[in-house]
Amino acid sequence: MTPDAWLARHPYLQPVADLHALVDAAAAESCIPTAWIPNWDDYTGDFHDGVPLLRSARAAIDLGQSESIVTSLVERLASGPLPAKLVEESRALAAELHREPDSARRAVAWLLDGDLVSPPQAGLLHYLGWTALARYLCPVVIAFGRWRDEDRWLRNYCPTCGAPPAMAQLVGMDPGRLRLLCCGRCATRWRYLRTACPFCQNQDDQRLAVVAIEGEGGLRIDYCEACGGYLKTYNGEGSEGLLLADWTSLHLDILACDRGLKRLAVSLYEL
Ligand SMILES: [Zn+2]
Ligand SMILES: [Zn+2]
Repeated sequence: MTPDAWLARHPYLQPVADLHALVDAAAAESCIPTAWIPNWDDYTGDFHDGVPLLRSARAAIDLGQSESIVTSLVERLASGPLPAKLVEESRALAAELHREPDSARRAVAWLLDGDLVSPPQAGLLHYLGWTALARYLCPVVIAFGRWRDEDRWLRNYCPTCGAPPAMAQLVGMDPGRLRLLCCGRCATRWRYLRTACPFCQNQDDQRLAVVAIEGEGGLRIDYCEACGGYLKTYNGEGSEGLLLADWTSLHLDILACDRGLKRLAVSLYEL
């Protein structure tokens, strides 16, 4: 499945595709540096204790550059030439990041920990901030995936950044079929139980159900009757870049919402 073919079949996704392409191009032009790979031996104990990589003092991923990385992407978008609304909102966010001496530091703390009070322009900050940080962290995420023993994690939050999943993917063939959860923030994919709700951790398979959708490239909606949460799931391999991008299946979120299901998954697109 190519992006063009997908958009031809889902023309209502074009505005979000355009936004995504503009932000991606701006991020590419921002010359974002990449993070150093940590010494994995230092992190092993925290990993076994369920501490996500970015929250581990022992792994000590260098996040000192995060403020300038996020701010420079926001400023690039604020200086256009881009659609007026995006420029205007990026300018407001850029002003917010400079409002007080520690505004950018607090914005990044919110992006990384998420448990503080939401700052102004939170939706745009979440989207742009994680777009920039995901690029910075990309080599670490790849190296972490190679080092990590998936059997020792199997948790319902991202081993890299600690976020709940945005989507899921089913890979391989039975009896060895696996379910991976996908982080919408840092793009980590990690293994989780095949039959368990990643939100309330219900394991009663009588209360876990699937909405199959024809002609959607293998995408389906998995949901839990215990908590009402759902997770868009790509039941296939080969089109991960497109079908696990979350924005390419925003119409399935509307369908799930119409069925009374709750999006408990993290989204970068609550703009
Ligand atoms: Zn993550
Ligand atoms: Zn549940």
